[in-house]
Amino acid sequence: MSVYGYSCDMREGTRFRNVNDSTDDPVIDGMGWIQLWENRTGLKRRDCCACGENTKTIVGGHVVLGSGNCDGDAPTDSESLFGGKRVFIVPICTACNGKSEVFRAKFSTRIVHLAGYGVDSRFNEGKYASEHFELDNTQLRVEIAQKRNAYAHYLWTKYGRQRVLNGRDQQILDMAVPSLRSRPSKGY
Ligand SMILES: [Zn+2]
Repeated sequence: MSVYGYSCDMREGTRFRNVNDSTDDPVIDGMGWIQLWENRTGLKRRDCCACGENTKTIVGGHVVLGSGNCDGDAPTDSESLFGGKRVFIVPICTACNGKSEVFRAKFSTRIVHLAGYGVDSRFNEGKYASEHFELDNTQLRVEIAQKRNAYAHYLWTKYGRQRVLNGRDQQILDMAVPSLRSRPSKGY
């Protein structure tokens, strides 16, 4: 889970790597990752941005930008990335999604920038109910509505500012150059 997802541009040639142990759970607003990507970018899944093929199943993959060899490049382990804003969702095939190499984007596309990576954006109503069994149903509904609003406010104050990209990630997105064997744009 993550708290927010914002659309931004990734140019052809941008280097990126898969995040290790990223979950496949539905994220924000109950959408799967590729649904979230389509929802936030307004695009339809078609080709894998890592290998350029469209013959395989396309999923929403968790990635970080850069080769990992430069100062400030994000790590790939979920634990270090937790709660941060270094993770992005890209359209990627299931084969590429399982690899640990450095990819270069095969074409320019919109991607989704996650804020609060790994943090559950839903207030846990079931847990609250089980901890407050003394309340009747009406009281419980009122309290849960209040707690849910308070949790949403807390998330906003804690993660809302993460909409601004990390400086190094912004630099990577700005400086990408097309790969040598570049293919024509896929019309995204
Ligand atoms: Zn691929």
